[in-house]
Amino acid sequence: MSDSPPTPAWSLRKRMTVGLLLTAVVPMVLFAGSLLVGEWQRNRDELLLRLDANATLNASVIDDFLEGQLAGVRLLADQMGDDPSLRGEELARLLHIYPSMLRVHQVDANGGVVAVRDARGRTLPPLAGLVAGEAWFQAMRGGSGAAVSDVYRRRAYGNEVVVGVSAPLLRDGHFAGALQAEIPVQAFTRLSAESLARRGLELALLDAGNRVVHAGPALRWKALAGAGAEGQAVRRIAAAPRRTQRVLLMDGLLREGGKAYVDAVGMRNGWTLVLVASRGQLLAPLLPRLLLLAALLAVSVLGVAWALWLQRGLLDRSIGYLLGSLRGYALGGRMVPARTDRIPVELRPLAEGIGELGTRMNAAFDEVQAVLEAREHEIAERTASLRAAVSELDRLSRTDAMTGCLNYRGFTEAGERLFREARASGAPLSVLALDIDHFKRYNDLYGHAEGDGALRRFAGAVRSALLHADDVLARPGGEEFTVFLPATEHAQALQVGARVCQRVRDADIAHVGSPKGRLTASVGVATLQAGDADLEDVLRRADAALYRVKAAGRDGVSA
Ligand code: GH3
Ligand code: MG
Ligand code: MG
Repeated sequence: MSDSPPTPAWSLRKRMTVGLLLTAVVPMVLFAGSLLVGEWQRNRDELLLRLDANATLNASVIDDFLEGQLAGVRLLADQMGDDPSLRGEELARLLHIYPSMLRVHQVDANGGVVAVRDARGRTLPPLAGLVAGEAWFQAMRGGSGAAVSDVYRRRAYGNEVVVGVSAPLLRDGHFAGALQAEIPVQAFTRLSAESLARRGLELALLDAGNRVVHAGPALRWKALAGAGAEGQAVRRIAAAPRRTQRVLLMDGLLREGGKAYVDAVGMRNGWTLVLVASRGQLLAPLLPRLLLLAALLAVSVLGVAWALWLQRGLLDRSIGYLLGSLRGYALGGRMVPARTDRIPVELRPLAEGIGELGTRMNAAFDEVQAVLEAREHEIAERTASLRAAVSELDRLSRTDAMTGCLNYRGFTEAGERLFREARASGAPLSVLALDIDHFKRYNDLYGHAEGDGALRRFAGAVRSALLHADDVLARPGGEEFTVFLPATEHAQALQVGARVCQRVRDADIAHVGSPKGRLTASVGVATLQAGDADLEDVLRRADAALYRVKAAGRDGVSA
């Protein structure tokens, strides 16, 4: 016996399931995962590129727009500076040429409003002290050139959020006032914001003071905000080093929450253009693909399960055939080899092995069978010869070896049997008691051996007198004989007795010691009577008859 621990039972089905899952499902999941991650990364890179390109482009477009507006205001300011006669009508012309402008103010050197025109060409009442304190005017009086202001609300007219585009009026090189056109922020953000929104990008603009000029509806920022949470985000964006890290991933910018990619671009006028793209939008295009991959995975898992089920069925059936052929051996003794055409090639070596084993077992079985049959035959023969020997022995045990008559045992058995049969059938049964006359003297005269010979000849003579096959001659002892005569009436029995005496006389066995000169016999006859209890009663009467013959002079018959 080996010392190694027993191998735990394992299931082919379980191993195949695990194997197929590992080889089919796991790679599928990994493949799907890498595909989705790759797709997501591609989408993200594409989004970041889009963000970057659009930020630069839109910054340039807004810069160009504002510079165009600024150029118009500067041109008119130059003309009006050179020619003081030019007044409000010129302002209307400017508004006509630049439809984005809401109003144009002409102010004098002290900041007093000289004329105001709005986009519809109306002359608005100038408001005293309207602009004198404003930063753009102060800057202009201080000698700065034409400029775009930070945003503000012009509460006096319509409370719109506007930017001021202004240029100084110079007369003979001296500051003589200024022109200022107010442009609503919407005029240069609306188109950009709409087209950007269609690309999933949200626009925001910060002025030079980092205040919100414009913020798209998806952002939490409000126009003109510049403090609190918005301010922090703005400051962070503004602080981010340009070029090296153009795109930031930030929290808290979107109304709907979630992280967002943010790109900020410095504009030529000192503003900052901010483009925001929610990171969540990257997931949406992945959803159909995810569903497709999940469906593929489900189909492949089902396929694997189906293949497993099929495989198991085939294996079970093949093994069933093999087991069936083995079971045949267990039940019937002979093994019927499995049909190899029903077994897959992979299992054929096993089937052939079992077949070979079966052939050898069948051959061994046949051999054992043949040996068994030979043995059985031998035993039957021996039994028969033994039976014959036993029956011969039996016969001999009932036979007197010297005369061939029944011996005492045979005499007893035959007598009892015949008595029973006669009683049962009601048929007659007669008995002859025989005794050789003067036989003692015969022995004395001729010797014992001659006596035996005489006994043998005597028996032959008696036998010749018995004509029925059923008659039985016995020598119960000495020179006394008994004859049973079944189905024989008393009168017939007397005749048989007389015939016996005659045949003994006819045998002519010389006996000088007998008065007759030859061997003679005395015969007593008796027949079964209704009152006889057993055979002994009959035998006693036959003996009595015999003695009467002896007494009467021997060589005769008596009833
Ligand atoms: P009886 O006429 O009265 O019968 O006279 P018997 O001499 O025959 O008297 P009994 O029948 O009594 O004698 C029997 C004799 O038979 C005695 C014995 O010597 C002889 N005898 C008995 N059996 C055998 C035997 O097997 N062989 C021989 N040779 N003699 C036998
Ligand atoms: Mg006698
Ligand atoms: Mg005698």
